[in-house]
Amino acid sequence: MRRKGLASMAVQATESSATPADSDDLRPGGTPVDLGPAVALSCRECGQRVPLGPSFACQECFGPLEVAYELPAGDPEELRKRIEAGPATIWRYAPLLPVPADVADKPNLNPGCTKLVKADRLAAELGVTGALYVKDDSGNPTHSFKDRVVAIAVEAARAFGFTTLSCSSTGNLAGAVGAAARRVGFRSCVFIPHDLEPGKVVMAAVYGGDLVAIEGNYDDVNRFCSELIGDPLGEGWGFVNVNLRPYYGEGSKTLAYEICEQLGWQLPDQLVIPIASGSQLTKIDKGLKELIALGLVEDKPYKIFGAQAEGCSPVSAAFKAGHDVVRPQKPNTIAKSLAIGNPADGPYVLDIARRTGGAVEDVTDPQIVDAIKLLARTEGIFAETAGGVTVGVTRKLIENGVLDPSLTTVVLNTGDGLKTLDAVADGPTATIRPDLDAFRAAGLAG
Ligand SMILES: *Cc1c(COP(=O)(O)O)cnc(C)c1O
Repeated sequence: MRRKGLASMAVQATESSATPADSDDLRPGGTPVDLGPAVALSCRECGQRVPLGPSFACQECFGPLEVAYELPAGDPEELRKRIEAGPATIWRYAPLLPVPADVADKPNLNPGCTKLVKADRLAAELGVTGALYVKDDSGNPTHSFKDRVVAIAVEAARAFGFTTLSCSSTGNLAGAVGAAARRVGFRSCVFIPHDLEPGKVVMAAVYGGDLVAIEGNYDDVNRFCSELIGDPLGEGWGFVNVNLRPYYGEGSKTLAYEICEQLGWQLPDQLVIPIASGSQLTKIDKGLKELIALGLVEDKPYKIFGAQAEGCSPVSAAFKAGHDVVRPQKPNTIAKSLAIGNPADGPYVLDIARRTGGAVEDVTDPQIVDAIKLLARTEGIFAETAGGVTVGVTRKLIENGVLDPSLTTVVLNTGDGLKTLDAVADGPTATIRPDLDAFRAAGLAG
């Protein structure tokens, strides 16, 4: 049995029910599903367990399903060594992910192990006296954090026998799905809003899968995909962020694992995380809790801060108003990758921000541009607009006395500035004839 040597381990209250019978590990055709330590899907609301499969909503209460595990028990030191001896990709954390043990041997885009940059010059500008880090996920294969979530969804697609990958995307996901599909030999057909940045459209189209622009915003695209999934037209398709969403979400845990490992197996005090649907933020919290439960890091309080653009700030608005539910908004911001007006995980984000003592804040488009330039100027990191959102929100939270500048803080940059060039539109300091007199006249010498 593949689970020999593993003991049942509850990492969340909802996962504390009895170990499911082995028959739960069967997919509809009767073939066993091997997704490593993943044993079932469990409802985030009512705890109901269902077998691993392409399901995303609880049949009982319509709550979102998430992956439940039997995580490795035993000596944390041994597990730490096993992880450290693994590949320099997210697959080093395979024992904690819903993937088969031999995942690293298969064709894959192998994302992860991106840089954690100690940002001393940015810290000085922001008045941070503690340690400030930027987790720079622009270094992933398609230059955004989305490669992490897609890599896990691909393994679920393989396990469930899907050979077409699809998604509703704010841009980065479409590119990540297109690239991953080519790499593993699947078909892809992805859906985006019609008004995305040219860099995102090209990145989504270049891999040769089908790319469909929908006349509407992301929430329209998402609604369309939900209809498609229930229709014979979409039958047999793996929608990474719809019917494979529970698996997809788990990819974001690797950000938590990497940050802590890169800090020498320690929790940061504060994290600033962008919010689109809120999946990434909630799964980073799940990952941190797992590390504590497994004894891989010492337990201590950490605060999670969510970051949005003012032009699409439904979670921030709910946080400030003290609401538990998120009222949908119509997005209008340059931070298109975060422009989800009706975020599926919004209420969970509110809960995490409040429970950890964090907050959710938003910044205006001009503040986003300023923050992109600040990060570029201080640390040599060119972030897309989502990175401008997190850096801008970090600055605002410090100015407002909400984020403690004396603690260890990790700010996420989730995408590459080359995809959102229009946001900054900087140009040369001077344009001159190729001679020294012209250069002298430009006043740039010395
Ligand atoms: C998708 C995305 C996010 C976060 O998305 P969630 O839906 O909240 O998980 C953050 N940054 C970038 C650049 C993205 O593309």
